[in-house]
Amino acid sequence: MQLLTSTLRDWDRTHVWHPFTPMQEYNQEEPPIIAAADGFFLIDIDGHHYLDGSSSLWCNIHGHCVPELDAALREQLDCVAHSTLLGLANVPSIELARELALRAPAGLQRVFYSDNGSTAVEAALKLAFQYYRQRRHQPSERSLYVSLSQAYHGDTIGSVSVGGIDLFHGAYGKLLFPTLQVPAPLTYRIPEGFTPESYLAHCDAELERVLAEHAGEIAAVVIEPLVQAAAGILVHPPGYLKRVRELTAKHDILLIADEVAVGFGRTGTLFACEQEQVIPDLLCLSKGLTAGYLPLAATLATNEIYDAFLGEPEERRTFYHGHTFTGNPLGCAVALASLRLLERRNVLANVQTNAELLRGNLQPLLSHPNVGEIRQKGVMVGIELVADRQTKVPFAVQDRVGHRIALAACRRGVILRPVGDVLVLLPAPAMPGDLVEELCAVTLSSVEEVLGG
Ligand code: PMP
Repeated sequence: MQLLTSTLRDWDRTHVWHPFTPMQEYNQEEPPIIAAADGFFLIDIDGHHYLDGSSSLWCNIHGHCVPELDAALREQLDCVAHSTLLGLANVPSIELARELALRAPAGLQRVFYSDNGSTAVEAALKLAFQYYRQRRHQPSERSLYVSLSQAYHGDTIGSVSVGGIDLFHGAYGKLLFPTLQVPAPLTYRIPEGFTPESYLAHCDAELERVLAEHAGEIAAVVIEPLVQAAAGILVHPPGYLKRVRELTAKHDILLIADEVAVGFGRTGTLFACEQEQVIPDLLCLSKGLTAGYLPLAATLATNEIYDAFLGEPEERRTFYHGHTFTGNPLGCAVALASLRLLERRNVLANVQTNAELLRGNLQPLLSHPNVGEIRQKGVMVGIELVADRQTKVPFAVQDRVGHRIALAACRRGVILRPVGDVLVLLPAPAMPGDLVEELCAVTLSSVEEVLGG
């Protein structure tokens, strides 16, 4: 066993290039090598168990090795693993499209499949652009997109173009297409001269100004409903999403809702848009779509958008986009089984219970001198660590405080994946309450180990 672990470690260091990972440091550490799983625990090659505190990067819903999901996959494997959707159909993708359309905000009837969150967003951006060119009433050439400061929508060039996190996106500036950015409605750190209220009013005015000034040029506003997850679980004030919908409708601009992270129950409702009764024109889904089992994504669209792509062959109205594994039958089969489980086990009620457990059990951290803010929506939690609570001055980057706390948690048998110095707790929506309490307890003791009590 020892030899096997060291051999794998060696091969990992020699060959595997890990995403969003500073490799020089990674190669000096010894993170677990996962070999198996049991429920909400990941198991490494040496048999150590780790509570999956980040839902395996925000995609797991029901735990790992779930008998119902495994059975759905095995059943599909006996039929067919993959066939293309380019000019051909397959059974699970049809059934899943129907189930998604039944549950999505009203009117989102058309399902365009791809295979990850970035491609779901990429497809939405291209659809919006082409829709305005091709729609029968008032067609127009629109190539501008509006997104929020600190936005994150994926890693492909289009989705990075609508991103706003300097650390992730700054390096690629010259490769990106120009977009318009409006300030995110967040009040933890506000520019000098504002109060929280006046800053939110400023954000609203900026949104209105940008949309009014560029109305005829903007194809879409892209937004993560309720929570900007990758920037550190930044929670928008109630009513913001609704306001964005009002203004986009007023100015005849499409609204793209990126529910890749917030979808499938994490905020307390199946889709986050529901909480403000918002119907976007395009809805991007991935991650939890397959309960975190397989890569699959869907971009849902209204009939109005879909209709602009209908016409005679010589009109060339086709959506020229399609990935090899689009609508993969295995992914669709497990997604269908996951939707059924979500309902049968009333996972949304469990999210409400766990949200309260998280709030209560993390309360001791509110008075910690290095905790600037705890942000939460449903079972998505961000704990922002700062060098000074009063001034909100961050820790030096080289201190790697978030990372050190994650290492401490790992030694205690919990996997956390921080975003910089924001500890992100994202238990799977179906996680039992006692494990959520364990997650909180380990977070508290790991913070104490690194930063003191
Ligand atoms: N949109 C959001 C809101 C995300 O959080 C992510 C991934 N974390 C993506 C898009 C991109 O998804 P993927 O990593 O599957 O490409």
